[in-house]
Amino acid sequence: MKILVTGGAGFIGSHLCRLLLSQGHTILVLDDLSTGSYENLDGLEDGRQLRLIVDSINNRDIVDDCVREADCVYHLASAVGVRLIIDQPVRTIESIVGGTEVVLKCCARYRRPFLLTSTSEVYGKGSKVPFCEDDDSVMGATCRRRWSYACAKAMDEFLALAHWVEAKLPVTICRLFNTVGPRQTGQYGMVVPRFVRQALRGEPITVYGDGTQTRCFAHVQDVVNALVKLMECKAAKGRVVNIGNAEEVTIMQLAERVKSLTGSDSPIKLIPYNEAYEDGFEDMLRRVPSLDRAKELIGYQPTHTLDDILHDVIAYEREKKA
Ligand code: UDP
Repeated sequence: MKILVTGGAGFIGSHLCRLLLSQGHTILVLDDLSTGSYENLDGLEDGRQLRLIVDSINNRDIVDDCVREADCVYHLASAVGVRLIIDQPVRTIESIVGGTEVVLKCCARYRRPFLLTSTSEVYGKGSKVPFCEDDDSVMGATCRRRWSYACAKAMDEFLALAHWVEAKLPVTICRLFNTVGPRQTGQYGMVVPRFVRQALRGEPITVYGDGTQTRCFAHVQDVVNALVKLMECKAAKGRVVNIGNAEEVTIMQLAERVKSLTGSDSPIKLIPYNEAYEDGFEDMLRRVPSLDRAKELIGYQPTHTLDDILHDVIAYEREKKA
């Protein structure tokens, strides 16, 4: 098949491209290289099996050409990372809401199956454990910039589901929980690459808040395997599906684990949220996925533990540093 991957030069997108290439598909990547990078596609662009088009998903003509050429569309292009969302709220909202509208319109025009990578941020600050796909979203006030990301992604989900309801456009929505692995940049927040780099450089490991907040980290390889299976799964059309890992860890435990696995003497330093992000910043205290639906639809079972993930990220960062 010929497959369009928007955001294919990003962290998750580039892992997805490698997997699709290994399955013999031809890939068209549409990426504006804003948060993604050419380096992520590292020797893959040969103009035949993989072709890169450097442009924005807000460019209607280009998106129309790409979608028409493709048999199906993985839509990963998006502003990412809490830091970026706080620093560039206009770009975040415009690219997420406007860009997805453009891509979906073209998919609707040419009847191309569409898979959206959404986010666990959509659950907002709900305190339920674990989060199931049909749970309520609990959003903060609009003056808190963080929530613009969750609301924008929720609009994308509404729009995709609307195309399914009105015209049976085959859409699948994957809510990704914290996804980690080699090639993830720590530039826009992302805690694991940041901690690993800090530990390897002997700098303080910066734990925001009091470190009791928890996250569940999934290996990017498990995540992209699931995306491909979900795109192929008929029963997943018109559905929202969580993808992640249910192994929960506090951010303080994560800092300690990184410190021990790297053999670093970095101190662990607590930084208040208002210094790390903005005044009144609201974090999620726990974020755990229910993976029942993914299991039922595609037999999803993550194969990498947190230690596997950390070993991979540490090896990658060590090699890069060398
Ligand atoms: N975090 C941290 N130190 C950092 C970066 C992030 O303690 O240098 C915390 C952040 O406040 C959050 C968790 O780590 O509680 C995960 O942050 P990330 O940005 O990776 O993803 P999020 O789950 O917030 O989208």
